Amino acid sequence: MAYSQSSIMIRVHEIALKGKNRPMFLRKLESNLKLALKDFPECSIKKTHIGVGIADVNEDSLDEVLEKIKTVFGVVKFYKYFKVEPSIENIENLIASEVPKEPFKTFRITAKRGDKNFPLKSPDMDRHFGNFVQTLTGADVSLYNPELNIFVEVLRDQALLYFKQEQGPGGLPVGVSGKVLNLLSGGIDSPVAAQRMMKRGCRVLFMHFHSFPLVDGSSREKAQELVSRLNTYQFHSTLFLVPFADVQKEIILSVPPQYRIIIYRRFMTRIAEKIALSNGAQALVTGESLGQVGSQTLENINTIRETVSIPILSPLIGMDKQEIINEAKNIGTYETSIIPDEDCCSLFVPKHPATQSTPPEINLIESNLDVEKLINLAIENIEVQTIKSN
Ligand code: ATP
Ligand code: MG
Repeated sequence: MAYSQSSIMIRVHEIALKGKNRPMFLRKLESNLKLALKDFPECSIKKTHIGVGIADVNEDSLDEVLEKIKTVFGVVKFYKYFKVEPSIENIENLIASEVPKEPFKTFRITAKRGDKNFPLKSPDMDRHFGNFVQTLTGADVSLYNPELNIFVEVLRDQALLYFKQEQGPGGLPVGVSGKVLNLLSGGIDSPVAAQRMMKRGCRVLFMHFHSFPLVDGSSREKAQELVSRLNTYQFHSTLFLVPFADVQKEIILSVPPQYRIIIYRRFMTRIAEKIALSNGAQALVTGESLGQVGSQTLENINTIRETVSIPILSPLIGMDKQEIINEAKNIGTYETSIIPDEDCCSLFVPKHPATQSTPPEINLIESNLDVEKLINLAIENIEVQTIKSN
């Protein structure tokens, strides 16, 4: 069967990874690749000293496996390779048997000596195997625009040969940077913010506030669907569904309409901080973009943040709406985000909420509310769901 199976090598960012974090990084990458490729149990996935190797990939599922690898953060590049024990003669024989059958007029050798005991240095390998391929095929060397690139990499116990490198998504493997909690509305922005944090190596927990039964359950369903789409990048997720209607009912009794949205957000943030801390998450993540809507002025962002002590990360803060939309389309969340829903934050708020607020002013308004009691009321009724990838 050996002839119908392929091996793939996954490479990581070498410069960023010198030092002590490297083993942990590669271990996470290995376990994330296992989750991404769980539908291909025949693949054998193991970290090596240069990256993560995937062996025994069936030829019929090769394309699907390559597509999956493109969604795993931490993968910088990858290639399907052939291997032999490292000797000049073995490498020549391997090149002769694996070089593509279709004729090519120009080529280059890109050789790298990873084992200093191999008799030829990298530039000498370029020349030696270049002459060999020229004699074998009659093709010419073209360093800058070759039809075929022939990569040779000599390691301690094996030499690799490959012809094409694919680009991975880069970033860091999900999990190496710790946990964060994303405030996930049904909108376009917050899922994009969550995916960006995953790309920086965070495992993301999700929290969605809904006003069911004051409104229908559509926003809950959207939140579930968005999380399931984002599982492409982190494989399985926890979603906290927070009933917010009872808190909102209390807020509208004493808070003037133009301030309600800010007060809703302050409660959301406080509740999110408590759940984050009790679940090992070290920061909150929102989809805010400066000035996009009235609640996202610097004044209001400030008034919302002063309720908590853990950091609130907003990776989209400097992006335009159109840039965020493009990114939502790329990562596969846009189609779900634009389904109409009944959002809790539009309940009992005027079209033009206050764009300016100061903490003392808002603290005064909130002094009529039993903040702790309302937070606990919401927390007691949280529904926790585990969402697995399809
Ligand atoms: P989005 O597109 O993410 O809904 P938005 O542009 O509509 O963002 P806002 O409505 O001001 O902006 O919300 C700002 C942020 O507050 C959101 O990105 C999200 O992180 C959080 N948020 C808003 N509503 C909810 C909700 N119902 N549940 C959880 N988080 C929410
Ligand atoms: Mg929104």
